[in-house]
Amino acid sequence: MAKYCSSCGKEISEGIKFCPSCGKAVISEALSPVQAQTVQISPQIKNPGIAAILSFFIAGAGHIYNGQIGTGLFILFCVIIFSIIAIIYGNTLLLIAATIMWITSIYESYTTSQKINRGEIKV
Ligand SMILES: [Zn+2]
Repeated sequence: MAKYCSSCGKEISEGIKFCPSCGKAVISEALSPVQAQTVQISPQIKNPGIAAILSFFIAGAGHIYNGQIGTGLFILFCVIIFSIIAIIYGNTLLLIAATIMWITSIYESYTTSQKINRGEIKV
């Protein structure tokens, strides 16, 4: 990764303390205390889009991605069991229940990752 002098803008090599061009002290952005603190405050940045897409393909996968592994596995288990029973017995009601659960999980994993990013919930 190339670094640039914060005062003159000239490209400088990694690890040096002073800019060879203008002589000013080099401020390392990667190690600045403000940035290090920001990383510590919000360590979980979840992508709501990814969570929703995962849930779309595998029910509960978005929850697992969000760190709600128990909830995710529960949704996946229920959707699979409901679907199997619905297909075997031709039970439309169970198939509807599985579909609702699946759609809800897509929506929920999306909003959950937004809440995680805002710090509203911790997982
Ligand atoms: Zn410089």
